[in-house]
Amino acid sequence: CGIVGYIGKKEAYPIIVKGLQRLEYRGYDSAGVALLNDNKLNVYKKKGKVADLHDFAKEHDLKSTIGIGHTRWATHGEPNDVNAHPHVSNGGKLAMIHNGIIENYASIKTDLTSKGYTFQSETDSEVFINFVEDIYLNTKVPLAEAVRLALNKVVGAYAIAIMSLEDPNLLIAARKGSPLVVGLGKDEFFLASDATPIIEYTNEVVYLDDQEIAIIKDGGLTIKNIEDVEMKPYVQTVDIEL
Ligand code: GLU
Repeated sequence: CGIVGYIGKKEAYPIIVKGLQRLEYRGYDSAGVALLNDNKLNVYKKKGKVADLHDFAKEHDLKSTIGIGHTRWATHGEPNDVNAHPHVSNGGKLAMIHNGIIENYASIKTDLTSKGYTFQSETDSEVFINFVEDIYLNTKVPLAEAVRLALNKVVGAYAIAIMSLEDPNLLIAARKGSPLVVGLGKDEFFLASDATPIIEYTNEVVYLDDQEIAIIKDGGLTIKNIEDVEMKPYVQTVDIEL
């Protein structure tokens, strides 16, 4: 299971697919990407290998300078195309990838269902992105704040990345228990489960700590913890041979 994300000026899709291939060693049963072009959120996902995802995706619109990609190791719901990530919220604007387990997803799902939310997949992850959407729409706080509020109610382990159709210059990530690295390039940022998908582009990385949220917005990176305390990013130089 792995996560790759990109936001910058380059085409995101090739960077993400190559990154997912570098994370293949972690093991997975399905793969997917979310991209944003022309005010449309394009999500492609497939059971099987990253190569199967690519065979499917290459026939579609791959243009985007922001994107998130995922390899899934199923914990809730069998490996199939629908349960594969990214998951999109009911409103159709938020896309999310998640590694880990949201332990208390069932009670959140019951609450959301009573509010009229419906679910395509059997995953715990799809519940989380709709939980974020519900908070976002009801409180009118910025999206990153809605994510922070949602994470405060979550029991479990996660590495997540979220993007929104409303803001192509925004990428949000967070982790607890599952690893997540932010790569700092020139006018661009990378996200990945480990540094291997990042190092061919930049050797400057920030390893997120547990319960930290990275908000990449309009070309800048802010890190805060889930208590809303801003943290100074600790930038490390990595030197790994591919
Ligand atoms: N719990 C999530 C699922 O079953 C994420 C699994 C993973 O870590 O890839 O879809």
